[in-house]
Amino acid sequence: MKDKLSNIVFKKIAEVCGENNLEAYVIGGFVRDLFLNRPSKDIDIVTIGSGIDLAKSVAAKLGKNIKVSVFKNFGTAMFKYKNLEVEFVGARKESYQRNSRNPIVENGTLEDDQNRRDFTINALALNLHADKFGELLDPFNGVNDLKNRTIRTPLNPDITFSDDPLRMLRAIRFANQLNFYIEKESLAAIERNKERIKIISFERVSDELNKIMMCERPSVGFKLLAKTGLLDYIFPDLAALRGVDVKEGQKHKDNFFHTLTVLDNICKNTDNIWLRWAALLHDIAKPRTKRYSKDVGWTFHGHEFIGNKMIPEIFRNLKLPLNDKMKYVQKMVGLHMRPIVLAQEEVTDSAIRRLLFEAGDDVEDLMTLCDADITSKNPDKVAKYLDNYQLVRQKLKEVEEKDKVRNWQPPISGEEIIKTFDLPPCRAIGDIKTAIKNAILDGEIENTYEAAHAFMIAKGQEMGFKVAE
Ligand code: ATP
Ligand code: MG
Repeated sequence: MKDKLSNIVFKKIAEVCGENNLEAYVIGGFVRDLFLNRPSKDIDIVTIGSGIDLAKSVAAKLGKNIKVSVFKNFGTAMFKYKNLEVEFVGARKESYQRNSRNPIVENGTLEDDQNRRDFTINALALNLHADKFGELLDPFNGVNDLKNRTIRTPLNPDITFSDDPLRMLRAIRFANQLNFYIEKESLAAIERNKERIKIISFERVSDELNKIMMCERPSVGFKLLAKTGLLDYIFPDLAALRGVDVKEGQKHKDNFFHTLTVLDNICKNTDNIWLRWAALLHDIAKPRTKRYSKDVGWTFHGHEFIGNKMIPEIFRNLKLPLNDKMKYVQKMVGLHMRPIVLAQEEVTDSAIRRLLFEAGDDVEDLMTLCDADITSKNPDKVAKYLDNYQLVRQKLKEVEEKDKVRNWQPPISGEEIIKTFDLPPCRAIGDIKTAIKNAILDGEIENTYEAAHAFMIAKGQEMGFKVAE
């Protein structure tokens, strides 16, 4: 491992330790990632004594203009060096109370500090003292777990997870990110302690969910969340997608597993986390809209509209941003059935124009979602559906080139309508505006100011208004 610690930061730490007879170790995720050959930019240093003092001495050796940020309350300090973030802390011992994941902290030994770590693979430490530079301290045989791709808690998993329930989500996230297995006892302990997740703030929960979302195949993480029962607590609407109903011998597909296939599919084609969220949520209203009838079997009519309406509350609960990202997800969910219709039959230009107008610049993302939504196991069908969507893309392109409605704003403003008919604020203004928009999108009138103006006059008069002098 010595040769992997060639970065000058480690050399300077070793120098300071040698000169002052201090102990310091690089510990946790950085060491794990060294063994796994994963790039990592956060370095955590533990010292026996003051982390703040050590950070200052090391920064001074590295150069004059390195700014050390000190967090006195936590006894930590950090600085940035080139593209690295180096954090220093004194070794600590922790004890927990039942109702909080924030422990009572005391100074401790390296061993105490390793005991408080979440997983054996995250408890590895490398000595940085010049005399023992690069020596591995691995009290829980984490290296072996790295070889066997195993996530395991260092101490009793029931205590580890109950003390800080966030660790249950971290276990699942690491299993997904690193492609590891959660060891049997640790997995069983997650099931037993699932209810403890309630004390974790939703900000933390969605940090972990977002990390799962950015994995190559997030289905792995979500299946583990479902299997352990955590999903019922953190994301009940998603958990509700699970299951298959049978009536008169007819079943519908399991929408949870379908959704996860769509999510994995889209991950091959986009790193846009919000498009990934749209894939996760595209069918979220299926449980609420599910109906059975003798004639047509199972239906989920309007699930895209109800789904669109459900998004703000889901985002609010998960503490996801309530901004244009949310609106984008809403739009994707609300429109995801439209290209299917366009693919099926002879379509009019007007239907294409409407979709272009409503999707705007996100129309390609919508098509990416639709491609991902094809989860048939029959390769002939998949090929046929993908082909249909290529045709839809072609039509979208042709109509856009002709009519330019993607970023289109209707040519007549509300203000102009008010002035023309000398109206007080009233509903009629919006009605006239919508009528103009529809007339253009439906191809009844040309997409020009003159045509829209004439249409407005006619429409207003039809509604009983007089043109103002
Ligand atoms: P990543 O940075 O990819 O999320 P990481 O393992 O580096 O992974 P950090 O959150 O950066 O995770 O934490 C650094 C180290 O601190 C971990 O490797 C682990 O040893 C310890 N740690 C972090 N969170 C916890 C926790 N909730 N309980 C116990 N130890 C933790
Ligand atoms: Mg880290």
